[in-house]
Amino acid sequence: MKSPEHIPSEPIRVRIAPSPTGTIHLGLARTTLYNWAFAKRHGGKLILRVEDTDRARSTAESEHAILEGLHWLGTDWDEGPVVGGPHAPYHQSERVQEHLAVARRLLESGDAYRCFCTKERLDDLRQEQEAKKETPRYDRLCSQLASDQSAARAVDEPFTLRFRVPEGQTAVDDLVRGRVEFQNAEIDDWVMVRQGGQPTYNFVVVCDDAAMEISHVFRGEEHLVNTPKQILVYRALGLEPPAFGHLPLMLGQDGRKLSKRHGAVSLSKYIAEGYSRDALVNFLCRQGWALDGETEIFSVEQFIASFDPGDVSRAGAVFDFDKLRWMSGEYIHAESPDELALHCAPHMTAAGLMTAEELVQRGDWYREALCLGQERVRLYSEMPGVLGFLFAADASLEYDAKAEKNARKHSERVAELSAYHEHLHPMIELGVDAEVLRDDAKAWVAERNLKFPQLFQPLRCALTGAAGGPDLFSVMALLGPEASLARLAAGIERLA
Ligand code: GLU
Repeated sequence: MKSPEHIPSEPIRVRIAPSPTGTIHLGLARTTLYNWAFAKRHGGKLILRVEDTDRARSTAESEHAILEGLHWLGTDWDEGPVVGGPHAPYHQSERVQEHLAVARRLLESGDAYRCFCTKERLDDLRQEQEAKKETPRYDRLCSQLASDQSAARAVDEPFTLRFRVPEGQTAVDDLVRGRVEFQNAEIDDWVMVRQGGQPTYNFVVVCDDAAMEISHVFRGEEHLVNTPKQILVYRALGLEPPAFGHLPLMLGQDGRKLSKRHGAVSLSKYIAEGYSRDALVNFLCRQGWALDGETEIFSVEQFIASFDPGDVSRAGAVFDFDKLRWMSGEYIHAESPDELALHCAPHMTAAGLMTAEELVQRGDWYREALCLGQERVRLYSEMPGVLGFLFAADASLEYDAKAEKNARKHSERVAELSAYHEHLHPMIELGVDAEVLRDDAKAWVAERNLKFPQLFQPLRCALTGAAGGPDLFSVMALLGPEASLARLAAGIERLA
């Protein structure tokens, strides 16, 4: 049964908050698609905020790669880097003064306190607790300091700022998972601001989501444990928290969290490996959400029109690499010649088969060649392998063992090839039309009481070097009369 739809009434403002510490991974790609679709569906806005507070690990290259990956996915953002917006800056590292101002407010209200405990004391405490098989947690020693005492010590002692977790329990009314309750006693008085004034994730994410008026937070399930901490900060600030929806983990086939162990997790790998973009988008949208029970293939427009977080699955989404390849093939097989030409171009040039100029100058020929390979590939990067024979030097085309064996199966086959070559010679020079050649070859085979393989197997070997492949007469049309005849002549010689 479909859950009742969550129809938001407030202005919808969702966000993605990547940390620029690596390439864009599949989890971020899916989170982006879900947020983006939710905003599109409800006329809302998607905000991109770069969470670059970890200065040691954040790099400009990584940020660039993430933005590029988001473009490649076809997603865009209404506010954020490049496009700007009323809540700038959109780099978290440029918002530290605002974060510290909020921290001061929490200190004044007593919801945060200074902690002067040294690293040594905290290490000893942890070891003691571990020895007693207790969950390590801060013993709140500094929470008892009177505020004037604390202020006095702060003059010359380093301190962190901890959040004072109140008693009671905190419920997350998750749009995906329903109500999830947490006992506050289980939540440590966590560090909001480190020594030296560096604020931490759970604190700044609230400052920024509140400042940017975020209405809904959709993010991976691994963040669910952080959510009660964040809700408590909103409460301490007298703010209404946004709605939360935690997306199921993506899992490998072994049921463990998807990681490099299972295969590539970086979007750029899939781009470089020549997967269809639309297939990858479809596949990612399908990781935890379904249009209906059976439909695997759906467009991003269909996704936007029907995406409801209430329909997102709670169970982990198993990432099936074989299915992704299959889906990529389905999309590629349905492409127009122009789309195919565009998407295969980088792979054709990288394989050294055609230069960028040739792709343009011989555009019609190139598109026809691609159509021959279209049904045979699942990735664009497979196209050079499928079409490579068209580009080989006629006399030195490589024959694979099976093709050669088929061609030589009966001694008379080479003789038939020779006779066909003579027959073809005058006619092919009149022009190479695949239809005409095919009908003629069929008639020629019938006249001589041959079975098709008797001609077609040696012919295929001579023209393509392979035992199977695209329609032979279309191949001749693409090769042109000269090369077709040259390959036949070379084949007669080599197979004899
Ligand atoms: N920067 C955090 C991450 O990349 C954002 C988490 C969130 O969405 O709150 O995991």
